[in-house]
Amino acid sequence: MEDLQQAEVLIIGGGPGGIQCTNTIKHYSPDTKVVVLRPETHSMVYCAIPYAIEGLFPIDRTFKKDELITGVGGILVRQKAVQADLKNKVVTIEDGSQIRFDKLLIATGARPFVPPVPGNELGRIFTVKTEDDTRAIIKAVEEGKHKSKTSTPKAVVVGAGAIGIEQALAYRAHGFETHLVEMMPYPLPQLLDEDMAEPIIEELRDAGIILHLGISLKALKGKEFVAGVELSDGSTIELEEGRDFVVFGIGMRPDIDLFKDTGIEIEKDGIVVDEHMRTSLPGVWAVGDCVHFKSGIDGKPIGGKLATNAVPMAKVAARDMLGLPARYRGYFNGAATVVGKLRVGGTGFSERIARARNFDVFVTYGETTARFPMMPDAGIVRIKLIFEKGTKRLLGGQVLATEAVAERVDLLTLSIQHGFSAQDLAELSYSAQPWQSHLPARNAIVEAATKAVDLEFYTDQPEPTEPGMS
Ligand SMILES: Cc1cc2nc3c(=O)[nH]c(=O)nc-3n(C[C@H](O)[C@H](O)[C@H](O)COP(=O)(O)OP(=O)(O)OC[C@H]3O[C@@H](n4cnc5c(N)ncnc54)[C@H](O)[C@@H]3O)c2cc1C
Repeated sequence: MEDLQQAEVLIIGGGPGGIQCTNTIKHYSPDTKVVVLRPETHSMVYCAIPYAIEGLFPIDRTFKKDELITGVGGILVRQKAVQADLKNKVVTIEDGSQIRFDKLLIATGARPFVPPVPGNELGRIFTVKTEDDTRAIIKAVEEGKHKSKTSTPKAVVVGAGAIGIEQALAYRAHGFETHLVEMMPYPLPQLLDEDMAEPIIEELRDAGIILHLGISLKALKGKEFVAGVELSDGSTIELEEGRDFVVFGIGMRPDIDLFKDTGIEIEKDGIVVDEHMRTSLPGVWAVGDCVHFKSGIDGKPIGGKLATNAVPMAKVAARDMLGLPARYRGYFNGAATVVGKLRVGGTGFSERIARARNFDVFVTYGETTARFPMMPDAGIVRIKLIFEKGTKRLLGGQVLATEAVAERVDLLTLSIQHGFSAQDLAELSYSAQPWQSHLPARNAIVEAATKAVDLEFYTDQPEPTEPGMS
């Protein structure tokens, strides 16, 4: 039996941040005693939840194996931290016992935000994060299908970010009349600018989703269960009480109540950390969704609640705990999702966000087919690049395509991370192959960047479709 009284490294939270920190510490220092507190039975691959709800695979395929922690020698304790005395370096867990630590990583993540509207306590209103949330939604979907002998069951999703859209598409796949309510005038407002969103709107409409754009939620009505959704345009989406349901996908709030009176510095988005993931208290690090951090572009605070941020932060925290050099410069927030036949992604600042952060910007676009034009289902790749005026430094990029976009988004992120200019991107040495790209003559990123280099000379060129062009 392991002695749980003392941990060299105590980690609160067994999500991507906690798991990665355990692995990195054990990689460099196998003898370090690492204890991980994780109350839930299963840690989940959250990104896969919508596809489990859609029915592509059973929920247990979204469970991460405990061996991700125990297999590298971490000690997993399935309990919640209920009290934290960070100055005296001791944490109390649910069974009343205490764990002293030399070093602590806070990786408690974030909870879905439920807006303070009337009726938000009614039944059949869900959020999407935990195994319990997922099981409750799957049950509601099944019940909705079975209770619907005479009319179509309904689901209302509030928030048209990636989580909301992925949920809405899952309910449509089950045949629900699905409403998607978004306060902004277009979907994916954190990822895209409005001028890139039209194909997404079309795709959602083609999927049969009823869009309520530029409209906010006013109230939820019902007796015991939700029976109607009142919107800011005066309309109400009527629901059948006890059958239909509402899901929120409007953002996350850091899960940090435990640390409120510990003396640790906290800001709007969570626990304040520096580039080494050190908090304001000695011996205490924090990573992932529970932290307040900065943009890697302008050094000012920005949200970044993504697993792809939590993981590199956790590597930095682990190395720093061990005295190895490590630094995390800030969020770039490259992210992607799928909407019907479109793959869509964005990175850095959108034009809207760059302007809101007082950048003087200009934008360019590039578009090619996603495969050689003569190939079957050649599709499209559409790129928008956002540059700082004067320096022509890349600040952001957006990609819509009928093929995977994640690697294009990553290329743009790398370019932003390294301060690349339009000229650097215009000189990109790219590859081409009939199934995987446009003709060698053109590349959408290079095209957009070249327009930025030669703003005054550029004239739109016709799409080369002749095989001879390659
Ligand atoms: C539906 C959905 C889809 C997503 N899709 C993507 C995607 O496609 N790409 C992407 O990059 N990101 C995605 N995310 C975001 C991503 O999942 C999070 O950014 C990531 O999980 C953050 O990791 P974390 O370790 O900081 O926190 P979490 O994964 O939230 O883990 C926090 C852990 O802390 C534990 N904890 C909390 N309080 C205590 C306590 N008091 N004591 C002990 N343990 C505690 C929790 O139980 C949990 O184990 C998605 C999120 C959701 C919900």
